[in-house]
Amino acid sequence: MTAVDDARTLLATEPVGVWSAPGRANLIGEHTDYNEGFVFPFAIAQRTAAAVALRSDDVIRVRSTFAPDAVEVSLADLDDRIAAGGLDWAGYPLGVAWALLREAPDATPRGVDIALASEVPVGAGLSSSAAIEGAVASALNDVWNAGLDKVALARVGRIAENDAVGAPTGIMDQMASMLGVADAATFLDCRTLDTRAVPLGFADAGLAILVVDTLVEHAHSTGGYRERREACERGAAAFDVPSLRDLTVDDLPRAAEILDDVTFRRVRHVVTENQRVLDTVAALDADGPAAIGDLLVASHASMRDDFEISVPELDLAVETTLASGALGARMTGGGFGGAAIALIPVGLIPAASDAVLAAFAASSFRTPNVFTVTPSEGARRDA
Ligand code: ADP
Ligand code: MG
Repeated sequence: MTAVDDARTLLATEPVGVWSAPGRANLIGEHTDYNEGFVFPFAIAQRTAAAVALRSDDVIRVRSTFAPDAVEVSLADLDDRIAAGGLDWAGYPLGVAWALLREAPDATPRGVDIALASEVPVGAGLSSSAAIEGAVASALNDVWNAGLDKVALARVGRIAENDAVGAPTGIMDQMASMLGVADAATFLDCRTLDTRAVPLGFADAGLAILVVDTLVEHAHSTGGYRERREACERGAAAFDVPSLRDLTVDDLPRAAEILDDVTFRRVRHVVTENQRVLDTVAALDADGPAAIGDLLVASHASMRDDFEISVPELDLAVETTLASGALGARMTGGGFGGAAIALIPVGLIPAASDAVLAAFAASSFRTPNVFTVTPSEGARRDA
């Protein structure tokens, strides 16, 4: 059963349509988004589906296979219910409805039943939140004749997550989920929101992306994330530029002179990471996917040593997959836990997975989830 089938079953009536959107993995470009830099994520095959039926009243009723109870809000009360908060998971779909009406004043809202089902694991660094937002935004955009394009729908998802749910995230996840292309990653300039689908050629090269979800919770993520953002702002202010996007590796010697050691290393991570994203795209274009491994390894080292957001479990996942024949590996996501990815020849996956499980057991770490992700199509209408 796919998420589309499960959403249909949960709706229990004939839908007017079913829409879905995928989770994402970030190939390279970490903590660059809020510095107006470059990221390079891809949509994965696991999707969240939204099956929609029309109602004769003005109620939005959302259900999910995640939760026993439906949540109902009338369109007239939507602003107040969002402002009041406390909607838990329903804040995502209802926040999308609210944000869509804000962004598309000409839309024609009406009552709907929305049933949600998902294949995207929650909290594994694969952005189940962007998947649910993308599925609901795509559905309501059609059903309410809102007429927004995919970039505008990504913005709707971000507004929902920032202002309705209250999670201060960038727009990378939503862009990756909306714009994904099979066997390609989305190069995104976070300042201009310009994008380009860059072919990855993993399948032709016999390569795959292995994910090691360490199941380590992001314990220091709130304070640590804020400290990193503040260090980036200090660095940009010292150079009198709007963001670290405006610095290049040529500015680093000067940065070493005028910044304290910690701020300098935070800046060096962001500046070199931006360059690594550009180098990754260039290497893919020129030489194909086997050429990007060293950039992934350098990205991990930079996050471990300069940005200091790795944890022992992530370092072990990276070291073990590399020792098992991966061409490159790095932690992915915000850090302090979460997942690592490895670019690896398909034939080595079973042995590498076993080696990771053995290494985690030997270190008395929690047994990680090890699985592959495939660069896949973005948000779409399925029925
Ligand atoms: P992730 O890294 O998976 O995006 P987040 O904390 O950003 O983690 O988002 C996860 C939250 O999104 C869940 O706790 C839940 O509230 C909501 N969510 C995601 N998918 C679904 C779904 N299919 N049904 C209901 N809620 C969902
Ligand atoms: Mg999320």
